[in-house]
Parts: sequence; structure tokens; C-alpha cells
Amino acid sequence: MKTRFRSYSPMAAALLATTILLFAGNLIGAKKPKETPPSEAAAPTVPKPDIPDLEFITRLREEEFGHGEVMDIMSHLTDDIGPRLTGSPNMKKANEWTRDQFTKWGLVNAHLEAWGTFGRGWAYQLCEVRMLSPDIMQFLALPKAWTPGTNGPIRGEVTQVIATTPADLEKYRGKLSGKIVLLGESRVPEPLEKPFFRREDDADLTKIAEFEIPRPFDESRRAEARAEALKRNQFQEQLAKFLTEEHVVAVLEPSRQPGQDGTIFVESGGSYEKGKTIGVPRITLAIEHYGRMARLLAKKVPVEVEVNVEAQFYDDDDKAYDTLAEIPGADPKLKEQLVMLGGHMDSWHAGEGATDNGAGVAVAMEAVRLLKHLGVVPRRTIRVALWSGEEEGLLGSRGYVKEHYGSRPENTNPKYKDVPPFLRPPGGPLQLKPEQKLVSAYFNLDNGTGKVRGVYLQGNAQVVPIFQKWMEPFRDLGMTTLTMRTTGGTDHLSFDAVGIPGFQFIQDPLDYGTLTHHSNLDVYEHIRADDLKQAAVIMASFVYNAAMRDEMMPRKPIRPEEFQPPPESESGAEKKGEPAPPPANPVNPAKPLPSGEQQPPKP
Ligand SMILES: [Zn+2]
Repeated sequence: MKTRFRSYSPMAAALLATTILLFAGNLIGAKKPKETPPSEAAAPTVPKPDIPDLEFITRLREEEFGHGEVMDIMSHLTDDIGPRLTGSPNMKKANEWTRDQFTKWGLVNAHLEAWGTFGRGWAYQLCEVRMLSPDIMQFLALPKAWTPGTNGPIRGEVTQVIATTPADLEKYRGKLSGKIVLLGESRVPEPLEKPFFRREDDADLTKIAEFEIPRPFDESRRAEARAEALKRNQFQEQLAKFLTEEHVVAVLEPSRQPGQDGTIFVESGGSYEKGKTIGVPRITLAIEHYGRMARLLAKKVPVEVEVNVEAQFYDDDDKAYDTLAEIPGADPKLKEQLVMLGGHMDSWHAGEGATDNGAGVAVAMEAVRLLKHLGVVPRRTIRVALWSGEEEGLLGSRGYVKEHYGSRPENTNPKYKDVPPFLRPPGGPLQLKPEQKLVSAYFNLDNGTGKVRGVYLQGNAQVVPIFQKWMEPFRDLGMTTLTMRTTGGTDHLSFDAVGIPGFQFIQDPLDYGTLTHHSNLDVYEHIRADDLKQAAVIMASFVYNAAMRDEMMPRKPIRPEEFQPPPESESGAEKKGEPAPPPANPVNPAKPLPSGEQQPPKP
């Protein structure tokens, strides 16, 4: 607490005053005799906390730690369903299962909601790559999403292509027909000196709590970054076209960093947009296996490879869906208002989507299951949302927010014709819908399986005294830190962008950035059960508090007439402190970082 107040000392006095006022309000509230219920029969019987309801929290902890089901939910998502690429049959299964599960637990209005047109679904059924000559070796390999299969096993000679500009490509014109291409340089992995698995220690948390004043707005740098990203994007399109025109039969690529020792990081290699060419089969290999072929080729030893990929596009439904469900509010004055929680359910396809983001889904589901199970009758309506399309640019939450709460018009300036929508500056002022006023807050979880250590406040100082009280009962579980910093890369941004308080929790990093994030190791075994239980209890408690308190959560001022600047970084890294972003994708660029995002200290 001392540390935190040191960080906020300039405003400590003001906060203290606010805190006292809030407490005074609550004490008065608490003195209202319980036996005199409000006239409406369905009104809640539980007190309204900013001072947390410790009796409720005791029951919550006891229930989760003694009889929790969060790992059962996780097992169903990962073992029974598996990875959940947006638009894939597995995602459909997950949408339906989560909807039915909510209904089974007694939530109401459980349904799937299309947020807009996504495009094509994709899934793979088989991926086998082996070297036939000069030696036989089975390779660790996974197809890139939205690339075609090989129509049975194909064999071919391997040739390496190193190209970063269209001029580089011309050197290979006429030389690649029928070839299997090794695309890009190999690299030698560094020895692993640091542990892969890490929790934040006190010093790390102190650092996260310190606010860094953002750099001044610099339009020229921003435009430069936009031009860079556009150039990268265009080259990827040219490359995809070139490989098709030259009749390359398959492309093998090295796993990006930090992939090594059997870990493969793989995202998308083609387009999910209908009507775009599907290109050639593209497969990501373990770096060591890619390296062996590259070394042989460098020694002019011919390499022959066999590739067999079965992959399928699904065009039956171009919409993608979010799963939504509610615990209805009971206070006649407040039940129209909402407290929301959730995380994205879609994943990449290499593993099982366990830490990204089965963890957030299991925690949000478990939180509402606990609230129902403990008989909570909230004053405000609690709405849980499991998003899709997050990995392609927060599409599911953005679409939902646009439909219900507001958005800025798309930029239709012809100058941005070839710029992907997320790289365009917004086309006009923020337009809000009436429902925007009714959402008190949105709580998101999407930084892996690590337990909750605090909250990113997204620059909203008014919530400091409130969250400090809410956090108090979880100090013994390691939750100690509030930071005024903003964090990005996930779905709370969609809410923040329209003036609704959206929060992402600070989580222990564990092995998220080093091993599991978008890799073949994103599997059940990397989920830490105790961390998920802790997070479920905290999520349930924060949602409960927000649903029960007299006031809505205080909001940051928004200036709808001001245009949000375009993203500061267009590199597509999902999380701070994480591995380098995936290489630019020809037509499905990875999602942007939010503008002005602050990076937490480097691990
Ligand atoms: Zn995620």
C-alpha cells in the first residue's frame, strides 16, 4: 500500500478524500436495517459493498477452493473441443457448448451473437513433413492457418528463397516451378540460460505500479510506422502471389522466436477473406529441422522432402459469433445497468488454446457459475461475453461494442484504399449509442494462466480507492498492485475506446511469453490450476462488487469529437513483454497494439 501511494503521491490527498467520502456513503448504506427490504420483492438481500462483503468472500473462497470446477471447464475446452480458430468447426462447438453450459447453470438469455462478417473457416486434419534424402528424418511441422492442403503426399527438391523486397523475388523467377521452398534464413537458437517460468516478485510489481509519462504525440513517427507496416503487408501479398505464379508446390518456414527445442509458434499464412486467392501450402517447422536442411543446401547437398497436408476451408457461414449470457439484475433502479466480464474464446490452431485464452474463458465462466451457485442476486445485470476473432484484431469485441455501445466511422479516404482498416486513422468523431451509458465496467482476462497480481487501471485514477478496498481480501493470494498504466493487446480496449471502463488484470507471466503463447505447447498441461482458482475468485468478487455498489464505476473523460490517433505500434505483438510478433501475414495482418500503450518492465 505504501508503495502504491508513493506512486500516486501527487493525488494521494484527493484520493484519500474520495475514499473517506465513499466509505462514509457506505457506512450510511450499511446502517440501513437489513430487515427492511426495498418494496420490490425481488430486490437483493446482500449488502452493497465498496467495503467488501467478507461473508460473501468467505463463501466464495470456500466454494472455489473446495469445490471449484474451473479445471473441468478447462478440460472440456482443451481436451474435448481443442483449439478454436475463429470460423472453424471447433469454434462453433465451443460457442454452442458454452451457451448450453451457461443455460445449465441457470444464467438467462444465453445465446450466440454474430458480430459481423468474418470470412472463411479453416482447419487442418493432417500434417506430415519428412526428409527423404540425403537421410530420412521426421520433421516437427504444423501448417499455417488459412493455407491449403497438398492433395496427398507430394515429393520434391528443396530450394531456399531469401527475399525481403520485390526485387529479391525477381532473382528467383522461373526457377521454382515444382519446388518445395524453404522460405527465409535459419537461425541458431540461443542456449536457455534463464528459466522459462517466472512469477512477478515484489520488485517487479513495484515497477509495474510506477507510472511512466507517455511520450508526446508524434504524428510523423506514427505516419512512418504506418507506412512501414503497409510496406511489409504489401510485400507479403506480393510474395504470396509470386509463389503461386511460380508454381511452388509447398513452402516450409522456420518457427519464429522464441520457438526452439520442439516449440513451434505458428499463426496465419493466408487469407480468411472470401474471394482472396488461397495461395500454396505453407508449413512452419521446428527451427532445428529447418536448420538441418538449410545447412545441407548451403553445402550444395540436394535435399528431397515429402509433404502431406490435409486442410480444409469452410464456407457454409461467413459470420463469427460471441457467446453471451446474463445473471439478471434485481434492483428496479439498477437492473438495466450492466457489469460485464469475459475473455476471448478463439485461439490459434497449434496447441489447444489453453493459456490463450482457454484460461480467461474458464475463469470468466467459473466466476459466473460461482455467483449463480452461491445464490447471488445482483442489483445490476451481470453479462458474460466470450469473444471470437480476437486473434485477428479484437474483431468479436469490437463488433459487439460497435453494435451496442458505439464506434468511430471507418476512414473511407481513397488515400487509405490499400491500408488494412486497423492501420487507417479513424474517419470521424466517436458516435455513442444510448446503451453506452448503462455499462458500468468490463473485466477481461487474457494474459495466460498466471494468477492475478493486480489491475491495470488504464489511466483511471478514480477507481484507485475503490479497487484498493476490493483488492484487500486477496492480498494473501498475491493480489497487491494497482497501476495507472494502460495495457493493450486484448478485448478491454474495445470498451475503453468508447468510454466504458475496461480493465485487464495484471497476471504472473509464467511461461506464457516463452513457451505457450500461439505455440504447439499451448496445452492443458501448462495450465496452473491454483492460479485459475485464484483468478476465478477475484473475477467473481470484482464483478459482484461492481454489480452491488450504489454507483456505476467512475469513467475517464472522453472527447468524442477528438479523433483517436491510429495505433502507435503496428507490429502486431499481442502482449507486452512477449516474444517478437509473428511475421506479417499476407492478408490477415496481426492485430495492432493500442495507441499509447505502455510496456511493463522487461522481465
Ligand atoms: Zn489472447
